[in-house]
Amino acid sequence: VDTIDPIRRSENMRRIKSRDTVPEMIVRKLVHKLGFRFRLHRKDLPGRPDLVFVAARKIIFVHGCFWHQHAKCADGRPPRSRKQYWLRKLESNKKRDQVVVRKLVKSNWQVLVIWECETREQGKIVKKLKDFLPGRN
Ligand SMILES: [Zn+2]
Repeated sequence: VDTIDPIRRSENMRRIKSRDTVPEMIVRKLVHKLGFRFRLHRKDLPGRPDLVFVAARKIIFVHGCFWHQHAKCADGRPPRSRKQYWLRKLESNKKRDQVVVRKLVKSNWQVLVIWECETREQGKIVKKLKDFLPGRN
């Protein structure tokens, strides 16, 4: 069952692939508050990671639930219209994400994915960030 109303759905579509999305800004702000510095969208790294902690060799991706197909998330469901088209497209996104993570891990990067829906609960992502990021350096 498609639980997302059409307005929210079109909102999802519009946000596809855009940079500096709201969830990304939330994460950046929190990371900053925690006292970490990072680089944005390094083009020389696979997948152009959203946040890069060069010295610690850590990377954070902030993924939109729809575009990156968050499993078991209501926002990750493909639209009902042109379903085959979307399934194929979204599946290839997911595969590409997996390839990107594999490449990064192979080159000794640690990768954390924060999902769009998680950014609605800041307490939770603060904990996630604190667990992932190194002791303040
Ligand atoms: Zn989600």
